[in-house]
Amino acid sequence: MTNPISKFAVRLHQAVIEPALVLALRRSRLRRFDMTAGDVAEYPVEWHRPQDCRAPCPLHTDKVPKLLRRYAGQRPHSSTWSERTRLTPMLIAMDRLGDAAAFDALLKQRSSRTLSKIRKAERAGYGARQFMLASHVEDMHAVRTSMAFRAAGPVFDRWFLKPEHIDTPATERLTVGPPCCPVHWTIWWGIFLPEPGHRQNGVEVGERLVAYVKVMRIGDVVHYTEIMGHRDRLADSVMMLLHYRIVRWLIAQDEPAAKGAKVLLYGAAEHGGAGLLTWKKRAGFVPGRLRLA
Ligand SMILES: [Zn+2]
Repeated sequence: MTNPISKFAVRLHQAVIEPALVLALRRSRLRRFDMTAGDVAEYPVEWHRPQDCRAPCPLHTDKVPKLLRRYAGQRPHSSTWSERTRLTPMLIAMDRLGDAAAFDALLKQRSSRTLSKIRKAERAGYGARQFMLASHVEDMHAVRTSMAFRAAGPVFDRWFLKPEHIDTPATERLTVGPPCCPVHWTIWWGIFLPEPGHRQNGVEVGERLVAYVKVMRIGDVVHYTEIMGHRDRLADSVMMLLHYRIVRWLIAQDEPAAKGAKVLLYGAAEHGGAGLLTWKKRAGFVPGRLRLA
């Protein structure tokens, strides 16, 4: 899915730039939440969850997943170098959040306008749902190449990505099925706008994908990896609508895959510029500390 140049850039960034960013930015980023390092709450998380894990499971249990090595400590908080340079995960504590009304109240407390923007997007016809990647490859390519720069930095896809790099396009309509393992999965969530006659790889899908996020779950932790919207749709609050519907899905716990997630993670307080952090704050995230239980 990712080209070698992009992969190398990401690795270099995580090994060299990120620790420096943490040292330089943590204090000021926490201040945006009226917090100091002492206010950051710790969340113990378990990633194996053998009692809930079901075969065939995509998780390799031999070593701690890379995401958790980046974001979670192994021991209680200490002042070692690796602790001081570890990213500050932005979290929504699902298990402490409460019901859907509590989430609405949290959003309202962060910004008086977020809920009305979400409703406006829904009135305009945008809807969120899970989707099969293979069914919307061309639309995803359009989203990913619609901007040269994003909050996280330059988008190398702009120059290198071709639709066939994303996935082999489906040749018939596909339905979304539940993941094999309810606690270790990848689910694509998208924002769609009805568009009669719209086709992908010759297959009529009748709607256009305008924003998406690759959501992954590792035991207690659900996290956003790629999250992206088409440049022309961002002003319609499609990203906030997408996030809102995913959190509501997790709160409802109607599907096995949504049950019992403890935290939702979206990157670090040190990532991106002030605009991205403001977005995360409005979306209900708070800086936290993850510890592997
Ligand atoms: Zn599993």
